[in-house]
Amino acid sequence: MVAIARNISNDSLEEIATEVVGCSLCKLSRSRKNAVPGDGQTSAKIIFIGEAPGKNEDEKGRPFIGVAGRILDEALQKAGIERSQVFITNIVKCRPPGNRIPEDDERAACRPYLDRQISLIAPRIICILGATAYSSILGGKSITQNRGKIIKRKGQKYLITIHPAAAIYNKNLRHALEDDLSSLSQEIKKMENLDRNTILDYIDG
Ligand code: URA
Ligand code: SF4
Repeated sequence: MVAIARNISNDSLEEIATEVVGCSLCKLSRSRKNAVPGDGQTSAKIIFIGEAPGKNEDEKGRPFIGVAGRILDEALQKAGIERSQVFITNIVKCRPPGNRIPEDDERAACRPYLDRQISLIAPRIICILGATAYSSILGGKSITQNRGKIIKRKGQKYLITIHPAAAIYNKNLRHALEDDLSSLSQEIKKMENLDRNTILDYIDG
């Protein structure tokens, strides 16, 4: 068998999006209207990872545009994080029927797209939104015990927080999300200052 090698150095977010839109690697392809690759630029500093597209996202092919998206947008705005600084995507790129939790085989089939997005963007930090992303990416269990934590795994930083949908009818959780995104904003500023000082040290000799 002759394998056609993909030239990894030529990979791009656009190329990934094209593949996702035409993907039929798992059974979610049979019920989706539109696959949802993700929104944002290669220059994003933060990647947000949710669970899966919902009804609105499935209709429009864009992530977090429904009620949960509005909550996320508000929390971003309060934390002073611009949409242009972030890339937003999900563990699976197609909507599970009835918004059920994505199954293990679906998560596994879709994972290479996410891994390619992460390696292209090389974000300063990845923000894990809720239990599905937490278990898939970090093997974690309890969001309530771990939300707000910033951890480092294999050189990559992660912030763990709740899923914005959990905050729809819960003010406390909305505040929790806002607090966590403020910490995220602080962390980014800290990392950028460190980099700036390192460069200045280098120039100063
Ligand atoms: N919930 C998610 O996890 N992702 C979306 O894109 C929308 C709602
Ligand atoms: Fe392909 Fe992912 Fe959609 Fe499954 S969820 S069909 S793997 S893009």
